[in-house]
Amino acid sequence: MPSAYCRPDLHCHSTCSDGTLPPTELAHHAHAAEVDLWALTDHDALAGQAAARAAACALGLAWVSGVEVSATWAERTIHIVGLGVDVQHAPLQQMLQAHRASRQPRARAMAQQLDALGIPDSYAGALRHVTHPDLLSRTHFARYLVECGRCRSVAEVFRHYLSAGNPGYVPPQWTSLTQVVAHIRAAGGIAVLAHPGRYRLTPQQETALFDAFGAAGGQALEVATSTHSPSQVQHYAAVAQQRGWAASCGSDFHSPQESRHSLGQVPALPGRLQPVWSLLEQHIAA
Ligand code: AMP
Ligand code: MN
Ligand code: MN
Ligand code: MN
Repeated sequence: MPSAYCRPDLHCHSTCSDGTLPPTELAHHAHAAEVDLWALTDHDALAGQAAARAAACALGLAWVSGVEVSATWAERTIHIVGLGVDVQHAPLQQMLQAHRASRQPRARAMAQQLDALGIPDSYAGALRHVTHPDLLSRTHFARYLVECGRCRSVAEVFRHYLSAGNPGYVPPQWTSLTQVVAHIRAAGGIAVLAHPGRYRLTPQQETALFDAFGAAGGQALEVATSTHSPSQVQHYAAVAQQRGWAASCGSDFHSPQESRHSLGQVPALPGRLQPVWSLLEQHIAA
């Protein structure tokens, strides 16, 4: 394993969750973008891991397993990326299966709210955008709202609908943050707190989140991601250093049409940080 990677991308989505490219195509995009260490991190799903690994290995692209697990903390959704997990680990698979199952009733309730707003048939509409039968997300509803002309983009949908405080938002009940971290660790993985800059927390709330994540056994922070500004990268770099956490980076790429940044387009990690891949030596397939 090289001691340094020039262009790691440890966060992206395929058609196995709410991305628009299949795992194999993503591997080719990553390779073409000169990504040199890659993880596919679908929401609550491991279905793409075998294809991602096979495609990466065929391309000579270093690969590590990944998943982005939805977690509940203080009545909010927090995303925890698990890197290097054993994709066969039964308790992890069971937790993810329960999350996927809970998406069905949530989606029905979302559709009811949209119905009441005069947006009919959104459940069936969202299903038409689903690319893996087992994984129905708000992104699929958002794509339907764009398709039927309610909004011009997925980003615009989330400014007006489906997000906390807006119509169509149904608070989900995920596994607790503490248990999610425990499951990732029990599956042999490293737990990474994803895109900390996206939760709209006060400094006090943010400290409480970091305390909870650290107490649960969290080991890394996603310092660099496409939605972090340069000052956020510096802020979260300082947090990682203070807390003794490793640093991760990933584009959170979903789609060539919807994502502003493509695979591999991630701000560089400040050099003083311990990169998360230094904890993943045993898990990287090349
Ligand atoms: P879910 O897991 O069903 O709650 O859906 C969460 C997904 O919705 C995220 O992973 C994003 O892909 C998408 N999403 C949430 N908020 C936004 C936003 N403001 N702009 C674009 N996509 C968003
Ligand atoms: Mn997503
Ligand atoms: Mn996320
Ligand atoms: Mn993501």
